[in-house]
Amino acid sequence: MYPLEMLLDGELVKGGGEALPVYDPSTGAVLAEIPEATPEQVHQAVMAARRAFPAWSQTTPKERSYLLLELARRIEEEAEAFARLEALDVGKPYQAVLNDEIPAIVDTFRFFAGAARVLSGSAAGEYLEGHTSLIRRDPVGVVASIAPWNYPLMMAAWKLGPLLAAGNTGVLKPSELTPLTTLRLARLLAEIFPKGVVNVVFGRGPTVGQALIDHPEVEMISLTGSIATGEKVLLAAARGIKRTHLELGGKAPVLVFSDADLEAAAEAVRFFGYYNAGQDCTAACRVYVERPVYDRFLELLAEKVRAIRVGPAFQEGVEMGPLVSREHRERVRGFVERALATGHVEAVVGGRPMEGPGFFFEPTLLAHARQEDEILRKEVFGPVVSLTPFEGVEEAIALANDSEYGLASSVFTRDVGKGMRVAARLRYGTTWVNTHFMLVNEMPHGGLRRSGYGKDMSIYALEDYTVVRHVMVKHG
Ligand code: NAD
Repeated sequence: MYPLEMLLDGELVKGGGEALPVYDPSTGAVLAEIPEATPEQVHQAVMAARRAFPAWSQTTPKERSYLLLELARRIEEEAEAFARLEALDVGKPYQAVLNDEIPAIVDTFRFFAGAARVLSGSAAGEYLEGHTSLIRRDPVGVVASIAPWNYPLMMAAWKLGPLLAAGNTGVLKPSELTPLTTLRLARLLAEIFPKGVVNVVFGRGPTVGQALIDHPEVEMISLTGSIATGEKVLLAAARGIKRTHLELGGKAPVLVFSDADLEAAAEAVRFFGYYNAGQDCTAACRVYVERPVYDRFLELLAEKVRAIRVGPAFQEGVEMGPLVSREHRERVRGFVERALATGHVEAVVGGRPMEGPGFFFEPTLLAHARQEDEILRKEVFGPVVSLTPFEGVEEAIALANDSEYGLASSVFTRDVGKGMRVAARLRYGTTWVNTHFMLVNEMPHGGLRRSGYGKDMSIYALEDYTVVRHVMVKHG
């Protein structure tokens, strides 16, 4: 493996703190032991970003754009190496990382390279005689970016793309569970960007993460993570009056109406319920099916779920890998056990951890879950899909909206008008009709309610990383 170093003020350096093990979830073996940053190193990273801000924020959009394009080119050039590391570290099927994730990540940087050049304030005009007002969109300042473990490199891209395009500087912290691709990215960042513009620190949330978000020179905190961590970010932000951008969990409802193409809907749930072993904030995990087709849909889906090929990241033809850690697998097992203990929930497929090495859990399909069950209310973040029957449009909408989360949802029906009407009433950041999970860099991704706020991807993300300023000029 290449040297696993952080990036502080343009220099690749080792952390000076406690060494943390990083595991291969496919085997359970230790891949590396990486020292975390000391409090002093976190301070150095923030201060480097602070010093780099005046010059970087004055660069032209074109200059920033060209550097982002270069970063995209380098990641594309090293696509296989990045994909191998991500597959190894998270346990994802290698081919899926190489073919789905890396091209999307490269495109994120290319999108923001373009967006940097069209972001503009406006010439607002004269509101007071003899005075002209201008609106500027300027960078926020020093941004702390905190990423989760489920899509480490993609989350780094979602954060760094708009952050850099808008002219901010910052410090990025990957999850302590899955730092490998971010540390490799640090090497590219060191070569491409002026020193101090982006810094990368490694370490745990309560130590390194907390030191970062508490730092008085950090002006904005961007987190993708759990609700519990979101609350900690908000407390730190409250103390320092900092801007926040939060992408928290999800519990996506899928509404399958009797007039849907059931085969296509079942295929979508099979794919998007178990992709990344269900460790996805938009996973199609809470499936409501209209009563007349409930049994038929359950049968169709069960057959597909039984056929999912589970295995280690580098095995040919594998569709689903392990969970990220032993602890997380225990969490998922607990959710399933408590669901089955209700007596009315049935495990139609799977339901147990898998024998052998690694942190594998069976693709699991639970039937007859009720709205009050924990399995429909809390985010499991594993390969577990639950089915529940409903009757009619009104009940479907009520069940779907009855959640503390508000990130993503989907509707399956052949009646386009009904799809549009239902979509309009679902209180989710995204609603898909006759598909699920599809993201494009031009369109925003982000939640409502306890799923957080702020948008990733799209021009809206770029706006989130800017402040609006007014300049008034008195003529003559
Ligand atoms: P997590 O909240 O445990 O960790 C996320 C990051 O926050 C990690 O880097 C962690 O080290 C850091 N962190 C933890 N405590 C901190 C603290 N006190 N101060 C600063 N940083 C701290 O979440 P996770 O387990 O890594 O990721 C899973 C969660 O992320 C799920 O809830 C999932 O839904 C959510 N998620 C959301 C989206 C989205 O776009 N909405 C995308 C991916 C994941």
